[in-house]
Amino acid sequence: MADIMGKKALVIGGSRGIGAAIVTRLAADGAQVDFTYAGSRESAEALAQKTGATAIRSDAADRDGLIKTVRDAGPVDILVFNAGLLVAGDPLELAADNVDRMIDVNVRAPYHAAVEAARAMPDGGRIVFVGSVNGDSMPFPGLAAYAMTKSALQGMTRGLARDFGPREITVNVVQPGPTDTEMNPADGPMAELMHSVMAIKRHGNAMEVASLVSYLVSADARGITGAMHTIDGGFGA
Ligand code: NDP
Repeated sequence: MADIMGKKALVIGGSRGIGAAIVTRLAADGAQVDFTYAGSRESAEALAQKTGATAIRSDAADRDGLIKTVRDAGPVDILVFNAGLLVAGDPLELAADNVDRMIDVNVRAPYHAAVEAARAMPDGGRIVFVGSVNGDSMPFPGLAAYAMTKSALQGMTRGLARDFGPREITVNVVQPGPTDTEMNPADGPMAELMHSVMAIKRHGNAMEVASLVSYLVSADARGITGAMHTIDGGFGA
């Protein structure tokens, strides 16, 4: 979309999956894109090479490191927080440290990244969090803590939309359903169960999610804020 031509975008967690699709789409739309990664250096470098984006190593779970990364990126017109972990299993068995790391990456990090980005963001900027349909509905056992982290983004978004609205900065959540990535492969062991509760019985594609993000950061979406945008093939219908 031409209207983000030359805008500066920062994608937190862009090396693989949905994040890589968002980097690819925003770069194709004409934005100057920086993106972070934690562990996947090869994927990040290949994506940077392919799209012209800049890859920055930064673990979102390291609060002060993340805040510094956002500050060092300079004023950004668009912040997309995509990084996420999924820790699944019987809550009576899960390691507390693993659950807490997921909360660090999925909840604390998007809050601190958004607040830091907003300090320098020009009026009319855009903040998009990648949440999940599981923020609204959780039909399966074993995912209580993950669902909790994605519901937390909803309250964060409503509040930050109020805080930054006077500057015409919009804050939104994109909530994918099952989407074919390494986190949730279309041929994974849970795929059939997921498809059984979907209206469109297939995994989504990461570029479909990126397309919704592309719309939300465009000028056309200037009046959309404090809202959840679900793209889930009817998983939560
Ligand atoms: P992947 O596991 O395929 O990719 C996760 C991305 O997040 C990678 O680029 C990874 O980078 C990055 N990341 C993870 N932890 C950190 C960290 N500590 N610091 C910086 N980057 C990090 O996941 P998906 O693409 O499937 O998921 C992306 C988002 O979409 C997540 O928030 C997820 O919860 C959400 N989602 C996904 C769904 C799906 O079905 N796939 C459904 C609903 C929501 P690296 O490898 O370099 O660490």
